[in-house]
Amino acid sequence: MSGERPVLVINAGSSSVKYRLLVPDSGEVLADGTIERIGEHGGELSHEVGGETHAGDHGAEDIGAALELITEQFATYGPDLDHLDLLAVGHRVVHGGPDFAQPTKITDEVLATLRDLSGLAPLHNPAAVAGIEAARQRFADLPHVAVFDTAFFADLPEVARTYAIPRELAERHRIRRYGFHGTSHDYVAGVARALIKTDGPVRQITFHLGNGCSAAAILDGRPVETSMGLTPLQGLVMGTRSGDVDPGLHSYLYREAGLGPDEVDTLLNKESGLKGLAGVNDFREVLQRRAEDDHDATLAFDVVVHRLTHYLGAYWAILGGLDQVIFTGGIGENSPDLRAAVAAGLAGLGIHVNPERNTAAADRPRVISPDDSGVAVLVVPTDEELAIARQTAALAAS
Ligand code: AMP
Repeated sequence: MSGERPVLVINAGSSSVKYRLLVPDSGEVLADGTIERIGEHGGELSHEVGGETHAGDHGAEDIGAALELITEQFATYGPDLDHLDLLAVGHRVVHGGPDFAQPTKITDEVLATLRDLSGLAPLHNPAAVAGIEAARQRFADLPHVAVFDTAFFADLPEVARTYAIPRELAERHRIRRYGFHGTSHDYVAGVARALIKTDGPVRQITFHLGNGCSAAAILDGRPVETSMGLTPLQGLVMGTRSGDVDPGLHSYLYREAGLGPDEVDTLLNKESGLKGLAGVNDFREVLQRRAEDDHDATLAFDVVVHRLTHYLGAYWAILGGLDQVIFTGGIGENSPDLRAAVAAGLAGLGIHVNPERNTAAADRPRVISPDDSGVAVLVVPTDEELAIARQTAALAAS
């Protein structure tokens, strides 16, 4: 069976590569690692296998060198990739543009199209392409599969994916709302539907809240709205990304602050969000400082909650009611305070969390609302690598 053979999942970002070797059917993780700060000073790496973590430093200058390091880690600490009967390599790719609505086997032609999409995702796609190129050299005999963050949202209803700008311009430049974190939204919504069996179409709102944050409205397993758009900048407040701002802000900053387009891009992507409001992008630090009555951290927390409330109300209306709200991602899974604050503002819509269930420590999918609640509130740990491995295995076998 193809799903019993291990898959190597590679997630190549602009300055880091994460990888995981796992068995798609069982979900068993055979090894897990990261190469961080590629091309910077003080590069760090870790390789976890058999419950032991092997950490060290490195001087990898680029993603090709990082792939070499990964191969070395496996050769030194195991498992031995050459004797493992690997099935395939799965690659996370952030932007599939208009061309890729499904996981796709990588050929030279596909790779050329991916290179072409870099204009749509300059911060993300070039790294993924470099990772794929290096991995195809190292694992030349294996099938390689690209799994796209945008794919789940490819058939968003036209009303949801269309910006009200001139149509011809939008078509020429492939401008539409694409949506991101699709692998995660799809995965956690599926786990929640399996956990709570409901007759008829299930109306779900998923909140993926990590360093990047997004929301999705899902009707019977298909997305009908999502908060991210052409790029992963739109929507919720994130670690360093602003989420929604008035589009007029760009030209205002140009005229009033003398900032050029790249500077505005950097400002909104890297200096805003929690970092812009509270000076730190780590939500744990925001919580810590809020507990000490720090004004900026308290405001940052409140803006995050306000934006979540705004989206939940909108998606409720779009779905015509609601059966399940699902929290996932580093913040969504681990912050009872955030979940309680969101629910507190939505009691009028019948959304409640049970305080004991909300604060109980657990890392499995669980319901945190009271039994008699009309809307089930759930925490579902996301597992993008497992979802990528399964989609890769399904395609590699076909
Ligand atoms: P992710 O991108 O999914 O790894 O999520 C990263 C975010 O999750 C960061 O803002 C972390 O501060 C936040 N996070 C991780 N653990 C916790 C925790 N125990 N409580 C609150 N936030 C957390």
